[in-house]
Amino acid sequence: MNIPIPPAAGRILSTLNKAGFEAYVVGGCVRDALLGREPGDWDITTSASPQEVKALFRRTVDTGIQHGTVTILIGKESYEVTTYRLDGVYEDGRHPKEVTFTRSLAEDLKRRDFTINAMAYHPEEGLVDLFQGMEDLTARQIRAVGVPHDRFHEDALRILRAVRFSAQLNFTIEGETLAAIRDFAPRLELISQERIRVELDKLLRSDHPEKFLTLYETGITGILFPEFDRMMEMPQNNPYHCYNVGIHTIEVLKAIPAEGILRWTALLHDVGKLSTRTTDENGIDHFYGHAKESAVFAREFLRNLRFDNHTTDLVTLLVRHHDAWFDGSARITRRVMNRVGAENFPYLLSIARADTAAKSSYAQEKLLPKYDQVEMRWKEILAAGECTSLSGLAVTGKDLIAAGMKPGKELGDTLQHLLDLVLDDPTLNTKETLLERVRRDGSF
Ligand code: ATP
Ligand code: MG
Repeated sequence: MNIPIPPAAGRILSTLNKAGFEAYVVGGCVRDALLGREPGDWDITTSASPQEVKALFRRTVDTGIQHGTVTILIGKESYEVTTYRLDGVYEDGRHPKEVTFTRSLAEDLKRRDFTINAMAYHPEEGLVDLFQGMEDLTARQIRAVGVPHDRFHEDALRILRAVRFSAQLNFTIEGETLAAIRDFAPRLELISQERIRVELDKLLRSDHPEKFLTLYETGITGILFPEFDRMMEMPQNNPYHCYNVGIHTIEVLKAIPAEGILRWTALLHDVGKLSTRTTDENGIDHFYGHAKESAVFAREFLRNLRFDNHTTDLVTLLVRHHDAWFDGSARITRRVMNRVGAENFPYLLSIARADTAAKSSYAQEKLLPKYDQVEMRWKEILAAGECTSLSGLAVTGKDLIAAGMKPGKELGDTLQHLLDLVLDDPTLNTKETLLERVRRDGSF
């Protein structure tokens, strides 16, 4: 077994070896290299203590020194070197009370979560695989190191990590491990929202976001996102639809590009259907106003997961307008561009198309050609440099003040009114025409 490791990582290993310490690349990078995937980071594990590591390298950063991690900087690259450790007693299902350093590689591998993540590699020694990680890689399955119940009892986040890795790698979860995930789902209550967000985000951005369904099947959504369970039970008796709300959501996730903003918007776009369903006299379901309700939910949900403001605001905005109505005209296209921001319009188009791809063939025939038309309109509007926001208006607040208006609410309303006119008819967007309009309409 030969793994091509970066030259700088190789030099770190040999520097440590020459000083009398053991050192291996370990974990995710070994797994990914064996799968022929490009590893993100090359992590190194060593018998040397953090102080011993620091003494051997010129540029180091104490990244997580109390956990044994020192970052070594080589050129523009950085490598995390962590001392072999045991994780001690887990008292709260979250983190070990203390970490203990050890001189035994086997102990260090034993504390890792899954067999495929518990392999180490050294260019001369080859692969160190004490828990049949290679066998599980070949079988394409996620299996806990040791007794799954014990491992999830120590750290409940691991149950989310299992599903996340299964989505990134398109692996199944081995039976006993899966059964333990079911048992430990309620213990996610102990885990910080930040750690949960990181795992959900990786799952959603993965090549197999449909594995989100595993969260439902194992009772994890029941804890983290109970609304999703209700979406799975909500039918949509409507000619535009062919799935319940939950499966429709999964189908949108599959149809939309693997990008964070888009995937989170897809996940949350229809939650508001839970509170807006009505059934008409013909037995057809309607969900009037659901986008607005979804947006209210999305903001709260993302905030609770401690998302940054930019992501929270943008996803909420896109959820709010995900079902914007188009007729293929430039006028309506400009209006929607104004509502979501011209720079976000490509997101909206992706969402609209993926949403449609997850509907009935009737809906697809009706809507997809329209979105092609809208895309053309959007390109024409950009090419013509037409105004779709206040910043593109030929008249500014200053101009209105210079023409005699007083600063204040009325001035803001007037600008908004002018923008309205220009969105309908871009030829009006000149200073003379707009000032003339203001005079004529009697604003001053
Ligand atoms: P990624 O590609 O997401 O970085 P990774 O496998 O490198 O995947 P990390 O979260 O970076 O995952 O963790 C690095 C390694 O540390 C893992 O491969 C695993 O061996 C170990 N590890 C990380 N988190 C845990 C945990 N909660 N419990 C046990 N071992 C863990
Ligand atoms: Mg990693």
